[in-house]
Amino acid sequence: MTTTTTQERTMTTSAVRETTATTAGDIEELDRRHLIHPHQTRMRADRRVIVRGKGSTVWDAHGRARLDVTGAGNWVAQVGHGREELAEAAAEQIRELAYFTCFYEFSNDKAVQLAARLADLAPAGLNRVYFTGSGSEGNDTAIKAARLFHHRNGETGRTWILGRQFGYHGASYGSGTVTGFDLMHQGVGPNLPHVERLSPAWPYHQEFYQGQDPTDFLVAELEQTIERIGAGNIAAMIGEPVLGGGGVVAPPEDYWPRIRQVLRAHGILLIADEVITAYGRTGAWFDSAGRGMDPDIIVTAKGLTSGYAPLGAVLLSDRIAGVVADTDDFFFHGHTYSGHPSSCAVALRNLRLLEDENLIARSRQIGEWFRAGLAKAAELPAVGEVRVEGAMVGIELVADRATRQPQSPMAAVAACDELYDRHDLILRHYGPTIVMAPPLVITEEEVARAADGVTEVLQRLGTDGV
Ligand code: PLP
Repeated sequence: MTTTTTQERTMTTSAVRETTATTAGDIEELDRRHLIHPHQTRMRADRRVIVRGKGSTVWDAHGRARLDVTGAGNWVAQVGHGREELAEAAAEQIRELAYFTCFYEFSNDKAVQLAARLADLAPAGLNRVYFTGSGSEGNDTAIKAARLFHHRNGETGRTWILGRQFGYHGASYGSGTVTGFDLMHQGVGPNLPHVERLSPAWPYHQEFYQGQDPTDFLVAELEQTIERIGAGNIAAMIGEPVLGGGGVVAPPEDYWPRIRQVLRAHGILLIADEVITAYGRTGAWFDSAGRGMDPDIIVTAKGLTSGYAPLGAVLLSDRIAGVVADTDDFFFHGHTYSGHPSSCAVALRNLRLLEDENLIARSRQIGEWFRAGLAKAAELPAVGEVRVEGAMVGIELVADRATRQPQSPMAAVAACDELYDRHDLILRHYGPTIVMAPPLVITEEEVARAADGVTEVLQRLGTDGV
């Protein structure tokens, strides 16, 4: 009989986990035992372990292929899965220099090149870039920069940040507090102080606006809020040009220009959260540019690397950067991975692919394919509204088309599960809204397959949600 020491046993177990836990069942079981998922709930015991991707198709651990209509499940994968060019860019950079800090006077060539490239692409006047590892860090950075800008200008009372219900800005304390989903705030308070949330711009839900024109109502609400809190106490408003996690909701055309006008009149900065919308998702490099937002700060992430490496970029106007960063005082704010060279190398190559393959324009084309493919779905009793913003689609389910009463989110869960199990389509839902945000390389046939699958499933989904 051989005996093993504790250390040997531990090593054996680790080796087994790394090398032989490759059957789908093993991996799913290890997942349940050890991996804590974002937004985990015990209500879901199943696990969907994805192991490979090419174009718009991914394969699970069982070897089953599915069409990814979500951008890797999270609004990314703009250039599609399995791109050799990005693998090469990452490998080359890791061989050359995997990491070096950007703290103080240090930097690296890829961070510099990417900052300059973003300044070229960005709306005029936004020439300064701070890199983060995520959208949440980006929004925290933007909130701090806005407060610091006013503080250094002698307006030390300007600390309030205005967010919106159904706005999603991240999971850190700052970005989470300005997020307009109550679940995010439960049991973890006290949150960031001095945050107020306004109503969303959601034209489909006229009932939010008490019979008034939505923009009139929302502008009046903003003006009243400014009067109540005091303009001299408000640093900034943050908003997504198009609500993403809120359910793909574009505002009325006059919303951002009029909101902008009010903010400007009161010296309040505007932060555009373009973590989802930038880099082509809606058919433009920056969605805010076409909506009259004219932001002081733009926060981006996801599409910057198509998700191939974690990276976010906060674009600051020259006016803000001049006060926050270009002074003898410190901008005492830093993340180890700010300007990470490997991530920046991937981003540079990714942006080139977006440009060379004309994927920004293709995003608008994808929107047209979806619009046509979902025309029948839009008329179904279970569907309140189909919203298409480039390659970003939301299908809001209702219990009653006449009253626009939202359907239970469980109906959307059931629909997505059925699409996954029976149609091999990966979609997600946010509340009662089914969303799609495919890779921008998705083909017309694949869009048709997704639209047909959705139509078929929603046809059978009664308005009672079963
Ligand atoms: N802002 C928006 C609009 C988002 O959709 C997200 C994430 O989905 C974030 C911010 C947070 O980004 P991250 O998850 O990278 O922290």
